[in-house]
Amino acid sequence: MDRLKAPARLMIVSDLDHTMVDHHDPENMSILRFNALWEAHYRHDSLLVFSTGRSPTLYKQLRKEKPMLTPDITIMSVGTEITYGNKMVPDDGWVEFLNKKWDRKIVTEETSKFPELTLQSETEQRPHKVSFYVDKDKAQNVTTAISEILGKRGLDVKIIYSGGMDLDILPQGAGKGQALAYLHKKFKTEGKLPTNTLVCGDSGNDAELFSIPDVYGVMVSNAQEELLRWHTENAKNNPKIIHATERCAAGIIQAIGHFKLGPNTSPRDSSDFSNHELENVSPSNVLVKFFLILERWRRAEVENCEMYLASMKADCDSTGILVHPSGAELSLHDAINGLKSHYGDKQGKLFRIWVDQILSTKIGSDTWLVKFKQWELSGEEQQGCVNTAIINIKNSADSAVAVATYMHIHQTWLEGSGAKDQSTWLF
Ligand SMILES: [Mg+2]
Repeated sequence: MDRLKAPARLMIVSDLDHTMVDHHDPENMSILRFNALWEAHYRHDSLLVFSTGRSPTLYKQLRKEKPMLTPDITIMSVGTEITYGNKMVPDDGWVEFLNKKWDRKIVTEETSKFPELTLQSETEQRPHKVSFYVDKDKAQNVTTAISEILGKRGLDVKIIYSGGMDLDILPQGAGKGQALAYLHKKFKTEGKLPTNTLVCGDSGNDAELFSIPDVYGVMVSNAQEELLRWHTENAKNNPKIIHATERCAAGIIQAIGHFKLGPNTSPRDSSDFSNHELENVSPSNVLVKFFLILERWRRAEVENCEMYLASMKADCDSTGILVHPSGAELSLHDAINGLKSHYGDKQGKLFRIWVDQILSTKIGSDTWLVKFKQWELSGEEQQGCVNTAIINIKNSADSAVAVATYMHIHQTWLEGSGAKDQSTWLF
């Protein structure tokens, strides 16, 4: 990753379904807590990697449904596809590596001879993954037979059966663990091996992640029996792996604390925003706090009192300008005054705001240019915009405490956003 000039302080490699994403929590609290923690304290010098069994199509679908951050690296289709950054640029070296002893045509040709196999949907068929459904009682025999036939035809494949129905055929060198090992090797060559790596998972295909040397691992509290059994049989005495007592992303936060990998208190766990001065003020934690107050104001989770608006106003320069994604311009103070009439307008509704990919550049002795995405989830709808902000951070005269001031915020709709109801987007 070119974004970081030095080794990442922490690289988190997390599975998505039932690990980062809790499908049993309609409020999405654990992932939102993780997001705030990551953006406030880790994004600037650490790497976020998602490793999922989902194909690119299903991965993108999940991102529309759940309040997810944008990862630095996305590993999809059970470790057969590695992509980088927002544009999801594929890793050509990985593709080349997987091509060894792999021929998709031979796999489809030979497997078509098995009536027990039902091909999964077109989106799940990938260059290095052929996926089927098969009944539990037939899985073992079919697996043995296919592996033998493909071996005779010169291929070296890995067959993964999971969830009691999915059968994936991949090149032998593929898989979540191998993909991580490949990334580690690549970073090492560049002199940027992360200081710490934390892997996070809940099911059988995550087991490989935990066998990579020197990584910390967390099996979330809701991990499936198959992963726990693998752990008991293979890694019981490894002190670097824990079974969290918290579910999903809350288990990841728990592991960060347990292994002392860095700050582990999410800004979302704080209820005291009365003091707008924070310790260790950085553009990141100022922004996370600002949008958290905005969310709580609209959900009526803070009191309807002038103090909060005054605190937000104090964070903004009196001459500062907000350029709304619609193009309208208004002063930052007027924008905050405008919030008065929106107190509690999202009370009792599914409404969340989270910031994503905060990247700041120092452009003056106490001035920062900060780019970040701001997302809103309202009911089923997700909207997002890209913000460019100029923030001034000054040490106050009487103490070591710094004060941050917004000078300017410019918002632009993200692709796919803004076409709907724009009037609810306040800031
Ligand atoms: Mg999972």
